[in-house]
Amino acid sequence: MSIKIKRGVQPDQLLLMAALANTAEIWSLDVTVTSGVEGKHRQGSRHYTHQAIDVRSKALFDSVDEKLQFLKRVIERLGPAEQVETPSGPGWQTKDGRWLGILESIGLPLEHFHLERN
Ligand SMILES: [Zn+2]
Repeated sequence: MSIKIKRGVQPDQLLLMAALANTAEIWSLDVTVTSGVEGKHRQGSRHYTHQAIDVRSKALFDSVDEKLQFLKRVIERLGPAEQVETPSGPGWQTKDGRWLGILESIGLPLEHFHLERN
């Protein structure tokens, strides 16, 4: 089973959730969303406009490579993807620049996937 979102449905977090859930289903993973709009985020964060979610990454895979492969698959569900290196960490974005996924704080207690609509 997969989640489909009709074009134009808001907020953008729903599209991120569907991409995440559909990828997790294929990979037979249980994933945990750790933040939506609440919590403390940097000023101007997409979280505050319902355009970002955070997902626990630490226990999902042993290696950073596997985490980035999973993240790539999530972003690819939203469009053709290309690798990016951001100040917050490595990740993937759709080639049209609309969707971004980053593995933040690698190896630290707060490590997580940050997924957003740009
Ligand atoms: Zn975030």
